[in-house]
Amino acid sequence: MCGIVAYMGEKQAYPILINGLRRLEYRGYDSAGVALLREGDLNVYKCQGKVSDLEAHTMGKELGGTVGIGHTRWATHGPPNDVNAHPHQSTSGDLALIHNGIIENYAAIKEELLHRGHSFQSDTDTEVLVHLIDDIQRSEGVDLAEAVRLALNSVVGAYAIVVLDRKDPDVMVAARKSSPLVIGIGDGEHFLASDATPIVEHTKNVVYLEDGEIAVIDRRKGLKIRNIKNQVKTPFIQELEMHLETLEKGGYDHFMLKEIHEQPRSIRDSMRGRLNLAKGEVVLGGITDYEQKFVQAKRILIVGCGTSWHAGLVGEYLFEELARIPVEVEYASEFRYRNPVINEDDIVIAISQSGETADTLAAIELAKGKGATIIGICNVVGSSIARVTHAGSYTHAGPEIGVASTKAFTAQVTVLTLMALMIGQRKGTIAGSRFHRLLNELDAIPAKVEKVLQGEAQIKYIADIYKEASNALYLGRGYSFPVALEGALKLKEISYIHAEGYPAAEMKHGPIALIDEEMPVFVIATKGASYEKVVSNIQEVKARKGKIIAIVTEGDTVVDGLADHVIGIPDTADPLVPLLSVIPLQLISYHIAVMRGCNVDQPRNLAKSVTVE
Ligand code: GLU
Repeated sequence: MCGIVAYMGEKQAYPILINGLRRLEYRGYDSAGVALLREGDLNVYKCQGKVSDLEAHTMGKELGGTVGIGHTRWATHGPPNDVNAHPHQSTSGDLALIHNGIIENYAAIKEELLHRGHSFQSDTDTEVLVHLIDDIQRSEGVDLAEAVRLALNSVVGAYAIVVLDRKDPDVMVAARKSSPLVIGIGDGEHFLASDATPIVEHTKNVVYLEDGEIAVIDRRKGLKIRNIKNQVKTPFIQELEMHLETLEKGGYDHFMLKEIHEQPRSIRDSMRGRLNLAKGEVVLGGITDYEQKFVQAKRILIVGCGTSWHAGLVGEYLFEELARIPVEVEYASEFRYRNPVINEDDIVIAISQSGETADTLAAIELAKGKGATIIGICNVVGSSIARVTHAGSYTHAGPEIGVASTKAFTAQVTVLTLMALMIGQRKGTIAGSRFHRLLNELDAIPAKVEKVLQGEAQIKYIADIYKEASNALYLGRGYSFPVALEGALKLKEISYIHAEGYPAAEMKHGPIALIDEEMPVFVIATKGASYEKVVSNIQEVKARKGKIIAIVTEGDTVVDGLADHVIGIPDTADPLVPLLSVIPLQLISYHIAVMRGCNVDQPRNLAKSVTVE
């Protein structure tokens, strides 16, 4: 996690760094800092707290300089305090370094450096890097870039780093391995950042640094890239397709609320050019070359973390029902360390909003090594996962800034639905009439999501009733079970209310013991295959005086007579219900969190792009 930004050019660096850090704050926000080079001085300011705290901290200080680096931290090693904030400096104060990732062998390196007389200020793993580079610079008599290269050869772990040297103010050195780094190339200026959001307002020309590459930005010579084996690399310049407006709140109080309301558009964007009603076909351009692999696949493994894992569970139901391919859904973090059985005719679908999730990336490498075909479903264009997979489909949801994922989830489910439909049709496992009905239903989803959003006032009213709850239960069956998990996760992560999602029938095997008159139980009870069963589960909760908030198909009178509250959603085909039923659950969590005074866009302890394992 953590956000990195750096600038070298003709303009003042500080405002560019602060703006960039604000855009990257979703990645970490427990402390922040900057280092600025100005006329032979290296000024470092850092403090615990958010970027706004850093701004207050730097008030009235010397902030000049046309070269600088900035960091917003998500602590892995050492508590979030002033000292552990980045940038970290060498003992002489000449070098300043920012880092995203984890240096796994930091303890051994630290011990060695202590023996060699270096003194450490912080508890971080990061600090060893700056002392190591400094040590190599001195002992080998090499320049900064070469010292960074040599240092990285003895480092185990993940990193994106940027280093400044007071003695060489016209050079900035950056490197990456398993943590993202994008270079923006402007007119006589260069930017570096963890993602393109701080860069897009300055230039659309970017280079995505590859693993093991070191970028040297020289004021006079421009950008040069080589790898840690010292081989020269040619920078591949790409044009960004991001628009600035998508990074602003656009009149909403929070990014999360904006993103919830964007879903009619983002779902439409996920389908654009892929679902063709007139021709009655689905074409996912990114995977057409791998269609035959899908058709022949004996098994699909879906890997992801958090909300992406929940989308994967929906994918399991979709692929099994529509394409008749057995599916296993795996937490990437478990999968990668389990020595799983992977065959060459397996297809692995890796899902990640950011495309940078460290565990998912590692799971991909593992499966790739065993010969499986890897398909990515990512939101961030050009991200690491998008680049290391054999093929894939972008979700096209647009930048998601709120830490709690909303539109990325519905976009992932939309892409999985399209994929399952496409493969099901090619395999002939889905009847023509059903295929066409589902296509029409899918096409109608954005308008139906719009309709659900119009019911926000009622959802807010319900949120007000349950905002003080200390526990909540979410129940669903079939396609609605993953939605129950996702609903519970949304509540936990932004309002800090303990919540659990369960398959409705499993409730009897444990959680039913928790139910009393205080306990809100959210049940997805839409018309469909398991409707009657879910109605029975509602009866079981009512018999124990639990409070039922039911998501039902509009016009349902049966559940209306049983539940304390019903939220109606438009009727749709079973496989598409998650795209509608998750919306009220997102809104409930949002409003409860706001009513409890929680920081919705930056929930405590969390960060959006989990680039550490
Ligand atoms: N491991 C470093 C630290 O704890 C960097 C963490 C991050 O990526 O934010 O400071």
